[in-house]
Amino acid sequence: MSEVISQFLEYTRLPYELSKSTKLPSIHLADQVCRQRLLFLNSIDSRSNHPAGVRSAQELLALWLEPLGFEITWIWPSQSSGPNDKAPMLHAKRKGQVDQNVLLVGHADTCRAPADVATTELQSSVWVGPGLLDDKGGLVTAVQIVTNLVYSSRDLPNLTLISSPSEELGSPGFHEFMAQVGSEADVILGFEPAAHDGDIIISRRGNRWYEVTFTGTEAHAGRTRGEHVDALLEAAHKIVELSSLGSSLPGASVICSSLHTSHSHFNITCGSATLKVDTRFETEEQLQFLHSGIESILNKWTSKASQGPRVPSISYVIKDDCPPFARRSNSVQIDSLLNELNRAYNQMELSQAVKAIAGGGASDINYLCRAAKKAQVIVDGLGPSGGRMHQTDEFINVRSMAIRAQAISRWLIEALNRSDERSRP
Ligand SMILES: [Zn+2]
Repeated sequence: MSEVISQFLEYTRLPYELSKSTKLPSIHLADQVCRQRLLFLNSIDSRSNHPAGVRSAQELLALWLEPLGFEITWIWPSQSSGPNDKAPMLHAKRKGQVDQNVLLVGHADTCRAPADVATTELQSSVWVGPGLLDDKGGLVTAVQIVTNLVYSSRDLPNLTLISSPSEELGSPGFHEFMAQVGSEADVILGFEPAAHDGDIIISRRGNRWYEVTFTGTEAHAGRTRGEHVDALLEAAHKIVELSSLGSSLPGASVICSSLHTSHSHFNITCGSATLKVDTRFETEEQLQFLHSGIESILNKWTSKASQGPRVPSISYVIKDDCPPFARRSNSVQIDSLLNELNRAYNQMELSQAVKAIAGGGASDINYLCRAAKKAQVIVDGLGPSGGRMHQTDEFINVRSMAIRAQAISRWLIEALNRSDERSRP
């Protein structure tokens, strides 16, 4: 057995009571451990619509966390959510000695099936394959952090790690559960991939998707003498009005992304049309502004319709409702996290200048922060760096897992020291 493998086995299986070291493992050792773990996780096909594989990936995580003193609970979705009803969320909790709750979140499902990493590539700095970055590498980074903390054998906070089985589908059926877990946390750390070349994410816009149905009256396009009610024309008016509502609010957007009509023929007027409207917003206030604007736009039929035998109507249903993750972290703590990240990159002779930025789309952290009243720090994008997410040539900068895990572990230990000092009489 090679020295690295035996170190790996000892390091990952060592019951925490036996470890007396107060130092974090070296980035080099952590890098070898992370590579091994990522290989194991990558050998499982955990596409969102393949629940048996998602479940296996979650069980592998449980296998890594149990020896570190975590108690595992499996959480099932609260409502039917299709094939993913068969894969639970992993909730792993380790009781600490300090009355603080640190929550780490990642997801086990991927958009595409994995590809093998060639044996010749094992020590290279970049691995290519779907899911390596999003989010298997994120989970490995999170597991490395809790391993680092437990291995350093000091007084620790309560640690909770959750892994969604269906983040790529919006984690249906878990929103209430995540809001509740988030409400108990003092620190929430999201392990979605880093933005750009390593940046962390301190806010994400929320989204609400409206499916709008316009119901008019069909008629022969040549013979109508005004008895038709044109649903397509009405939808066109509303597209213009809705689009300008979005541009009136900096940071928010309203995008009409699809229009589907009741038929695709010449010679018949359009009797009904369905419009998909995608709204994005930075705060709850922006959401309320957009929602009341949309309601007032949709509550009246704008185009000519007085001749029709049927009263034309507009109705909508909300298809997805994801709250915003508004910036709220203490900037001193964000600065110290950035310092630790840059220091760890420097230590590996990588000149990186990690920044804190606003993220594009939503993630599970949006649901976690919905009721997170006491959380001082909420950060996402702490997973590894890489690119081409959700593509067949998705890639991960492999060392970034260990580097970021080291930096985040140091930062957490520092933050704990500071709160120890404050609580001393
Ligand atoms: Zn992801």
